[in-house]
Amino acid sequence: MNKFTQLFLSCLVLWCLSMQTNAQTIYIHCGQLIDGKRDQVQQEMTIVVEKNRIQSVEKGYKKASENAQVIDLKNKTVLPGLMDMHVHLEGELKPNRYAERFTMNKEDVAFRAAQYADRTLMAGFTTVRDLGGSGVNIALRKAINSGWAKGPRVFTAGKAIGPTGGHADPTNGFRLDLMGDPGPAQGVINGVDDCRKAVRYQYKVGADVIKITATGGVLSVAKDGSRPQFTEEEIKAIVATANDLDLVTAAHAHGAEGIKRAVRAGINSIEHGTLIDDEGIRLMKKYGTYFVPTISAGEHVVKMAQKKQLPAVIVPKALKIGSQVKKTFRKVYKAGVKIAYGTDTGVSEHGKNGQEFAYMVAAGMPPMKAILSATIVSARLLRVDKDLGSVEVGKYADIIAVDEDPIKNIKTLERVTFVMKDGKVYKK
Ligand SMILES: [Zn+2]
Repeated sequence: MNKFTQLFLSCLVLWCLSMQTNAQTIYIHCGQLIDGKRDQVQQEMTIVVEKNRIQSVEKGYKKASENAQVIDLKNKTVLPGLMDMHVHLEGELKPNRYAERFTMNKEDVAFRAAQYADRTLMAGFTTVRDLGGSGVNIALRKAINSGWAKGPRVFTAGKAIGPTGGHADPTNGFRLDLMGDPGPAQGVINGVDDCRKAVRYQYKVGADVIKITATGGVLSVAKDGSRPQFTEEEIKAIVATANDLDLVTAAHAHGAEGIKRAVRAGINSIEHGTLIDDEGIRLMKKYGTYFVPTISAGEHVVKMAQKKQLPAVIVPKALKIGSQVKKTFRKVYKAGVKIAYGTDTGVSEHGKNGQEFAYMVAAGMPPMKAILSATIVSARLLRVDKDLGSVEVGKYADIIAVDEDPIKNIKTLERVTFVMKDGKVYKK
């Protein structure tokens, strides 16, 4: 090889490398922008994305630098990636769900969960909090982060924690000889020592969040759906141990007494909160506890109960509690409690996480407030608002777009047409 050829080849290599770095700069021209920070919709904006972060957000359609990619969303409304604070990626409620516990291997659950994660991302939800499964949800987070599967950013509780016979006891309704006596490693606790161990165990296996079932639940094979299931001392032990490990805490709760015990113990969010009373609402405001409504789940279980698609012991609970969720949301929102967006998808269908917006708006929340609940408010609950939850300089480029103005038609958020996560386009 002569000197000239060598020089030519090294120039070619350098040029290719520079093409590669420049190609990582993306200009997004947005007809409208809801940035997740302010209440106003902004017109004609440009977002510049460098690798996986937002480099600038400017007024007008900025001319792209040479070799940068331009994405034209001039006829769309652009928003931060949506965040759902209550999903279960491992399953979906179907009439055969209870039998599945005896027929599905973990490997089967994992492949199916990967498909649900894909649907979630395509629906514009770039971040979810998985509030309980078998632990496959932790492997799924790893698969997505490693690029082995497509899906949202997952913050997971691993296995939910509850007492023997409680809503999180994985053997409820099993034949006696199959029930056994699960303990803290299976998320089943009795007493404060078990509580500490159960939290530390979830931490050890990789959970980001601790989920407890502070009261009975609708879908467990058990008579009661609302009585308290933990002593206040037990919840305090859970919260203190979780706080030491910097794990966010969430409590499933329907009944008023269980809600109050969890709030007083310092839990970060109440899920469902269906039968909350005035004192509970006052306590949530005092402690700064977030409320995660999950109206979608309420609506869905009522439909299934009416069609008799649920076990007989569950039908009356579904009808009583499911139909109350929307009314409760209206009351709690009007009282001024912080609302983070959550659907309990996995009860309802994966990929339909956006339906909660219309339910919230129908119950009296302005569209912009509903959008903020699914962006910056949820990011604050997860303590990741430094990196996520708004279209702001320095944050991760999690950006979506819809065809219509969601302030005028909230249902457009059920049909997200552009999805970027971590600077990479997944749907266009
Ligand atoms: Zn749930």
